[in-house]
Amino acid sequence: MKNKPQNTQSLSRRQLIKLFGTGVATYGLFGASAFADSKTTAHIVIIGGGIGGAASAKYLRLLNKDVKITIIEPNPEYIFCPGSNEIIPGWSTLEESTFNYETIKSRYQVNLIHDKASLIDYDKKQVKTAKGDIIKYDKLIVSPGPSFHYEGIEGFNQQLAEGEFPAAWKAGKQTLKLRQQLLAMKQGGTVLISVPADPYRCPPAPYERASFISTMLKKINPTAKVIILDNKNSFIFDNNFPYYWKQHFAYGTPKSTLEWVSKDMGGEVVSLDAKNRNLITADGTVHHGDVINIIPPEKAGQFALDNDLAEGDWCPVEFKDFSSTKHKDVYVIGDSVDGDPMPKTGFLASNQARVVVQAINDELHGKEIGMPFLINGCVAMAGEDYGMTLSETFRFQGLGKPLAERYFIPEPTTNPEKQLVLANMARNWQRTFRKDIFS
Ligand SMILES: Cc1cc2nc3c(=O)[nH]c(=O)nc-3n(C[C@H](O)[C@H](O)[C@H](O)COP(=O)(O)OP(=O)(O)OC[C@H]3O[C@@H](n4cnc5c(N)ncnc54)[C@H](O)[C@@H]3O)c2cc1C
Repeated sequence: MKNKPQNTQSLSRRQLIKLFGTGVATYGLFGASAFADSKTTAHIVIIGGGIGGAASAKYLRLLNKDVKITIIEPNPEYIFCPGSNEIIPGWSTLEESTFNYETIKSRYQVNLIHDKASLIDYDKKQVKTAKGDIIKYDKLIVSPGPSFHYEGIEGFNQQLAEGEFPAAWKAGKQTLKLRQQLLAMKQGGTVLISVPADPYRCPPAPYERASFISTMLKKINPTAKVIILDNKNSFIFDNNFPYYWKQHFAYGTPKSTLEWVSKDMGGEVVSLDAKNRNLITADGTVHHGDVINIIPPEKAGQFALDNDLAEGDWCPVEFKDFSSTKHKDVYVIGDSVDGDPMPKTGFLASNQARVVVQAINDELHGKEIGMPFLINGCVAMAGEDYGMTLSETFRFQGLGKPLAERYFIPEPTTNPEKQLVLANMARNWQRTFRKDIFS
């Protein structure tokens, strides 16, 4: 069937419900897909208004003034994880990391539906929301972030993460709770941080967090100890963090206030004994923690898992345009993607967004899709005056082939001025990145 009559546009949602008698509103009827004259007025629907989703909406609008863009996102505000470790020692606030969708709506003319997407009907090309609304799409971009597999650690669950054992791996109330617990911890207490196996979002963030907590405790609780129990034998920036830790926390000596236990040395946490505040590792060792921060293992976002976009834990895509290998006209980006060798970072989620919207726009205009080249510029800090960076590039090598990766991690500098410059670079990156996505 061709287009709906033009006057459909002036019908209210209530009238439409009456007209179609379904009890649900079909947002696509307001949009281009139902009465488009050309493909440039297509309806692009985005699941998730986080880094990948918001960047997709903004950069698509900058490329194309005609398409209709809709984001489905349950929350009225987005809290950035990049920079959220700084909230724990009190160097930043939750408010500084929180953005609403007003600019995206008004400046970029994006429709926001504050609801949870639940089901994709691939044949009808429509998405159903938790409240029962139906949204038709021509192209669907899925960026729901990860889901947390709390039960991967026996005895741990979402309720405990929202209560006594804040994971704080999605910035928000749990981040503040973790800070409060650290401030209230008894003198000489022990903080345990459990780090999962790869892949998880932001590979350096657990070590940055441990470093910030140690810095904070050195001032207010100097006999306290931080122990990182790791499900890996190496970690990103393991040339830089230990360098800082040796200088500030006597790392590697009997007096060290920060300890890293690798997987082979017994660091793999298998269960939580919540009652006694203990973590138990694979070799049976029991570690008591006054504050316990378990970073849960991750999988693709629940929406992607529920809608047959994943194979195993993650969503396979063609790296040429991040189209799902499982369903047509659907693109998956961000933390949900099976993106190896790309790490799961906001920087890359926003780059992937640019690749997708360029590909969609090219296709709508009948142009050949280009060859993507992705960049990850990762920044981290060990303390307020010590930063580090790495650069990575990922080159498309052909359909079905892995991306070619190149990366460079500078050796630690002994020059305190350079260390401070790198820390300022990291802070400035967080600030400009947040603004890039939401302004
Ligand atoms: C402590 C920490 C520090 C970090 N620091 C950095 C850093 O310095 N640099 C960096 O590049 N990255 C960093 N990251 C990683 C970065 O936050 C993620 O890689 C990035 O947010 C991924 O973007 P995304 O769009 O996939 O997911 P998100 O940004 O998490 O967005 C997902 C959105 O989807 C929504 N959603 C979920 N399900 C549904 C549904 N069913 N319907 C509708 N909406 C849904 C959610 O509400 C959310 O708003 C950090 C992460 C952490 C935890």
